[in-house]
Amino acid sequence: MINSLLNTGAANRDTYLQQIAAATTEWDLLIIGGGATGLGIALDATSRGYKVLLVEQADFAKGTSSRSTKLVHGGVRYLAQGDVKLVREASIERGLLHRNAPHLVKDQNFIVPVYTLFDRLKYTVGLKIYDWIAGRLSLGSSVFISKKEIIKKIPGIRPNGLKGGVLYHDGQFDDSRLAINLVQSIWENGGYAINYMRVTHLLKDKNGKTSGAKVMDTEAKKAYELKAKAVVNATGVFVDDILQMDKPGSNKTICVSQGVHLVLDKKFYPSPEALMIPDTTDGRVLFAVPWHNKVVLGTTDTPVETASLEPQALEKEINFILETAGNYLSTKPQRSDVLSVFAGLRPLAAPQRGSQKTKEISRSHKIIVSTSKLFTILGGKWTTYRKMGEDMVNRIEKELQWHRKKTTTSSLPIHGFSADTDWNDPFYFYGSDAPLLRLQMNGTANQWLSEELKIHRTQIVWAIDHEMARTVEDVLSRRTRALFLNARESQRIAPECAAIMAKVLGKDASWEKEQIDGFNKLAEQYILR
Ligand SMILES: Cc1cc2nc3c(=O)[nH]c(=O)nc-3n(C[C@H](O)[C@H](O)[C@H](O)COP(=O)(O)OP(=O)(O)OC[C@H]3O[C@@H](n4cnc5c(N)ncnc54)[C@H](O)[C@@H]3O)c2cc1C
Repeated sequence: MINSLLNTGAANRDTYLQQIAAATTEWDLLIIGGGATGLGIALDATSRGYKVLLVEQADFAKGTSSRSTKLVHGGVRYLAQGDVKLVREASIERGLLHRNAPHLVKDQNFIVPVYTLFDRLKYTVGLKIYDWIAGRLSLGSSVFISKKEIIKKIPGIRPNGLKGGVLYHDGQFDDSRLAINLVQSIWENGGYAINYMRVTHLLKDKNGKTSGAKVMDTEAKKAYELKAKAVVNATGVFVDDILQMDKPGSNKTICVSQGVHLVLDKKFYPSPEALMIPDTTDGRVLFAVPWHNKVVLGTTDTPVETASLEPQALEKEINFILETAGNYLSTKPQRSDVLSVFAGLRPLAAPQRGSQKTKEISRSHKIIVSTSKLFTILGGKWTTYRKMGEDMVNRIEKELQWHRKKTTTSSLPIHGFSADTDWNDPFYFYGSDAPLLRLQMNGTANQWLSEELKIHRTQIVWAIDHEMARTVEDVLSRRTRALFLNARESQRIAPECAAIMAKVLGKDASWEKEQIDGFNKLAEQYILR
């Protein structure tokens, strides 16, 4: 049934809604939140055979999960902090994800430049330990490279005092594309995942146990009451809002830390190798990562008081990235060179010690089970989303005394799986869908909607028909990455995108105008003036 839903065209979400509304029995799991964490839990539970519904208040990966540094990594920085357990877990997950989604996760070389003999020793030994921790799931061995080699690979690098560098391997990916492929995997395995459905209240049974949720379809403004045996709070930086619904006055469980990225043309960093700058002035590492023919620079770690779906980059964060990266790039970038700036919020488990800085808080995940048996998950990383899913479903089975079922996700290919990825193909991230997409282009594959970003009109129709895109923002932010790669170019193509969408979705001119205006306003926040 679900497979046929994948091909029902624009009615896709409507058909889902009807089936959800018509469901008379309770769901086994109702998962709140369609980011990496919720999707990982939903896929794990679905593939164990549970009846699963995931609801996302906005679009899948609208929150933090589309705003990462795009690394599938063990975490060199966490090793420096001595968090070997997290590095081991993340390194294993990195290997599994590389194996299960080879169309999205790339083996990426990283270079750490070294300027002192002590650093040479520190990074050579440290990265050998990093390789060793990953064991047979390592993506390759680290090596020391000479000053001459590093200057050849990174022509803009500061040569004075340079002793050489250490080259190591980590994974690189497209975060929101992985999220969309996970949604498709959930559907294909018999589960339900739907966007624009917001949980507004939790339902309790006569014993005070969580028994479902009131959910608002934010498109049709219609409310539903959904019953479930287990309700999971996987809402990232919003977990405390759901915990307040569960028990008003609950203590805060997370603290929020903002990270900003800048995207530049690749002429500023033409190397295929990524750069890792250790020991920046804010005590974090800074990355320059090649991504979709551009380079992503980041990130920062700034504690913030309130969570939002559209966090704003601070001037001091922008200046810090431009200045720090400027020392390593071919040409020092100016504000006007920035193609896009985006900010994301880390949902970190609140520190044990009140004074702990956000960059020192472990990125490990934590599960909390409320007295009402609401299941909440905090912290984590994109890289470990699968393990987080497995741990949560194990915990639910244990707490609710369900018959234990074995997880299968460690060897489950993710939608789009394709072993022979050509990273130069502009449609590589569609994996096994790429031939079908090309077929639908009907010989027009070179007629771009955006030549600069290699975006084709057919991708818009595809996003609606197969990937549940509902708005111009869904298409230009998370099905394609236009907004994140070049915000001005995304504004330029928004009107045509809206026109195509209106036609496919059967919307009128006022919808089209609303979409264009809304998107333009949003894109302004990604542009540095
Ligand atoms: C700057 C930065 C860089 C990072 N880089 C990396 C990296 O390179 N590699 C890595 O492994 N990790 C990285 N991370 C960490 C990783 O991105 C996060 O751990 C992960 O994306 C968090 O996913 P999540 O699902 O918990 O949260 P989110 O992605 O925020 O998802 C939570 C979802 O819940 C939804 N929601 C909230 N309330 C409701 C409600 N009432 N009803 C329905 N839905 C609701 C929200 O709309 C949201 O979509 C980075 C994080 C940041 C901030």
